[in-house]
Amino acid sequence: MPRKDDHGGLLAASKTSAAVANKKLRKFMSSSLGQVPGVARRLAQMPKILRSTYVRALTGRSKGDSITAFCNECVGWEERFKRIRECPSIGCPLFKWRPYQGGE
Ligand code: SF4
Repeated sequence: MPRKDDHGGLLAASKTSAAVANKKLRKFMSSSLGQVPGVARRLAQMPKILRSTYVRALTGRSKGDSITAFCNECVGWEERFKRIRECPSIGCPLFKWRPYQGGE
């Protein structure tokens, strides 16, 4: 079985992009917005993998990420693919735009 890093350096590229994402996240967390108690508390509560989506939402770089971040928080950041896809809250203003409707 081939090792992951035998495929064109994909593993190295993914480590590089993860390092860049971590650097951006650390920079955000030390910014004034990152120090706001409600922001810092959320960042501490959510799984690390969801933090970059939340930061993109807060910095206004993506409406889609804002919806995803809100839905992630709504389901308590757990089992998010299933729980958001199967969300029963038809009355929620984000229902039609929630992520993962077509799968992960
Ligand atoms: S669409 Fe569902 S998961 Fe998303 S915010 Fe609304 S109620 Fe929550």
